[in-house]
Amino acid sequence: MATPAFVDAFRALQTSTARAHAIAALAHELSPYEWRQLQALVDARSFHFDIVGTLPAELVFHIFSYLDISTPFRLQTVSRRWYSLLRSTDLLKPALRRWYDNTLPLEDASYEDCLQRAHSIHRFRTGRPIEVAATKPAPESSKRIALSEDFFIHVPYPYRQVRLTNLRTGEDWRMATEGRELIDRIYASNELIAFWNQAQTCYIFDYFARQRAKLRLPPSMNKFRGCRERTFICGGILNQHIELYLWDLDSQKGRTLRLDQPPLDSAITSPQCLDIQLLPNPSSKTFTLFSTKTCEARWCGHQVDSMSIDYYVITFDGQLVQQNKFVIPLTAEITELAGASITSIHPIDRKGGYRISVFCRYNHNGFTHMFNFDESIQAFSMPEQQTRSAEDVRTAWWKDSFYQIHVRETVQTKSMSFYFDHIGISGQDPKRTLCFQDSASLDDMDGGTDIAVLLNDRFAVVQAFKRLYVFSFAVEAKTANVGTAEESGLENEQMGDHVLWTVTSNTR
Ligand SMILES: [Zn+2]
Repeated sequence: MATPAFVDAFRALQTSTARAHAIAALAHELSPYEWRQLQALVDARSFHFDIVGTLPAELVFHIFSYLDISTPFRLQTVSRRWYSLLRSTDLLKPALRRWYDNTLPLEDASYEDCLQRAHSIHRFRTGRPIEVAATKPAPESSKRIALSEDFFIHVPYPYRQVRLTNLRTGEDWRMATEGRELIDRIYASNELIAFWNQAQTCYIFDYFARQRAKLRLPPSMNKFRGCRERTFICGGILNQHIELYLWDLDSQKGRTLRLDQPPLDSAITSPQCLDIQLLPNPSSKTFTLFSTKTCEARWCGHQVDSMSIDYYVITFDGQLVQQNKFVIPLTAEITELAGASITSIHPIDRKGGYRISVFCRYNHNGFTHMFNFDESIQAFSMPEQQTRSAEDVRTAWWKDSFYQIHVRETVQTKSMSFYFDHIGISGQDPKRTLCFQDSASLDDMDGGTDIAVLLNDRFAVVQAFKRLYVFSFAVEAKTANVGTAEESGLENEQMGDHVLWTVTSNTR
């Protein structure tokens, strides 16, 4: 087929300037209808293959189920066809189910419900909380705060009552021991809180039955503790063996386990420095017992030849069913090994993934090392972001999204600042996004340099400079005191006795 004469003429033009002039002259000749034809040609060229426009909807949903949950929102603006397809619960529900590890009932969820959840996941994965609430300065301790799903638990100064807040609904409970004694530390799951008074009573509060159980246990049984769902487990060293006590909230019954068989008997080489953590798994009626067989103290006198974690799967009847060892990888050349102790175990998803922090002392220094632990295969692995850190840094993550707080001192102004950063997503280059920052003068801090961060994909709790900061990604967080807090960017408001709210503007 012969080319039209004007195309030949266009090809004959020698310079890009001459071609640009010719295009401008041609554009001047086009009718509105021809403009639209040109527009269609341009669009077809920029989307070489319009996957959403041409494939059956089921296939589109399948393809998008592999992409980031926020992708459909970005692409809704591409065209009307994309908009109508991508605004479907059929697209969102599979992605939400996967994110929530099939723990969320979504059958009756509307598009708006799904959208709200997807937005909160997107906010969490990009380091953009909806709001931040901060308590007025008061001494706090990381042993006295806990976060489990929507429940935030803390022991406000002067540490004589436990406060439980559902951050989603605003429901709030307060509990104390009978003699209103000092509460040293708390353990909490999404269904129970356990705390001791200074004598020998352990109190267990059931969120749903709203009732309290009292267990008379010797103080020696308050050395290791763990809880999950409706099971609480605690224990200590008694007569050179490990003794545990298991409490089931449903049956309101407890049982004692004596772990004196090998190899658990040999774990007790030096009872005073034995460090044990317990992770119950009520669905399989087992628990995992972790031990570094040392403490982290240099002066203790224990013998260390490597940094490792021994861990055992034991049934609720006390039968040992599995035994494993994880050698902590140390990147530096080791000139001195003092010891290690497991400082915390926190969930990182809803299918048995955990973050395990180990404080290790070597080469005359202390470092926190953090690992992933997959309960279903009983295996440790390295997180995908750098998590070995010194004392002034804390890292936490949920699924693939990593957060960190770090503290910096400014000598000139005699103040300390802390920074709460989103440090990125697994498998991507670290990309630090500042979520929040606050400062305090050194005089006001009065030694309150403890820092801690707890988080899940809905809320984060940061403890720094004797304050508690609650970040919300999911909904506007509520406490009993926040009923009248106004949502006006960066306004500080004194609420009741000791809660100060800082609400950042709700940017999407
Ligand atoms: Zn020791």
